[in-house]
Amino acid sequence: MQENAKEGVAVREIPILYLVVPCYNEEEVIEKSAQVMGEKIRRLEKEGRIAGNSKIMFVNDGSRDNTLRLLHEIAAEDAMFSVVSLAGNYGHQSAILAGMMMARKYADVVITIDADLQQDIEALDKFLASYMAGSEVVYGVRNDRHSDGTFKKGTATLYYKLMHLLGSKVIANHADYRLMSKKALDALAEYKETNLFLRGLIPTMGFPSDVVYFDVKAREAGHSKYTLSKMMTLALDGITSMSIRPLRMIAVLGFIFFLFFGVVGVTVVVDWIQGNNVPGYTTSVLVSLLTGGVTLVSLGIIGEYVGKIYMETKHRPRYIIDTFVWKEDNAEEK
Ligand code: UDP
Ligand code: MG
Repeated sequence: MQENAKEGVAVREIPILYLVVPCYNEEEVIEKSAQVMGEKIRRLEKEGRIAGNSKIMFVNDGSRDNTLRLLHEIAAEDAMFSVVSLAGNYGHQSAILAGMMMARKYADVVITIDADLQQDIEALDKFLASYMAGSEVVYGVRNDRHSDGTFKKGTATLYYKLMHLLGSKVIANHADYRLMSKKALDALAEYKETNLFLRGLIPTMGFPSDVVYFDVKAREAGHSKYTLSKMMTLALDGITSMSIRPLRMIAVLGFIFFLFFGVVGVTVVVDWIQGNNVPGYTTSVLVSLLTGGVTLVSLGIIGEYVGKIYMETKHRPRYIIDTFVWKEDNAEEK
């Protein structure tokens, strides 16, 4: 099948598509989102781009507002909607994973998309076209960042630079708006790590992949659920779960310091022999401040990895599913 696809002959069957939508406190926007996404799925079905039993799977990530109740109402009305509700707030990455792992049992392709309609839903056509042409993974990449503040824009650019410097294969400006085929999802299911950074992990799997560009809009309603601390955690996880280069940098730094101190040591001894016993107050203070600082930062970095090892050795479940709503046939016949 793949061989033919490479020759440009689309031989894939019309896929069953599952849209996986993580939701955390999205009561302001969720009904609108369900409506817009539902219409899009119906249209794609009519156009014959996806199979008739495609669905939208909401993942409730421990919302504390009315999101879950609204989701149940939406799913009760129309079998096109399915609800996976997690037992607590496990975070965006785990919510997506939970949805993908659940959806792969029914779907041929899964596309993850945010609940707030910021990511242009019309891009689904391009995602599907690329799948039909043979891609197993398709990354949605945002065209620009004008809907973000200068802070988010600046930190994001800096972050991607740093990630690439540290050897991560992460795709710049790709934020989990992504298509994965069942084959790719089954492969992803083999990765058992607790510290999950999908954006870094998936490109390392190595399936035929493609990039689709889409426009980013302002949030339909509600506010960003990614607090600064959640963003920093994601950024740190992204680096430390994909690369051990920071640890090596500590070793390199240690070596440079060692050489430097060797030179300083020799000069000091030579000075002493020559009787130049000048009190080098500034020098000693600077040296001890510098070494103290570097030591502490190094310990912090090592601690971060030790913490990761600790969490991994526990083999805890990455999410726990509380309730699951899924109905056999879509309401198309209604
Ligand atoms: N989200 C989640 N769990 C969390 C935080 C966010 O499932 O702990 C979901 C959220 O409901 C949304 C998506 O992740 O569908 C992206 O979050 P948001 O739009 O707040 O982030 P931003 O677009 O501002 O980066
Ligand atoms: Mg958003």
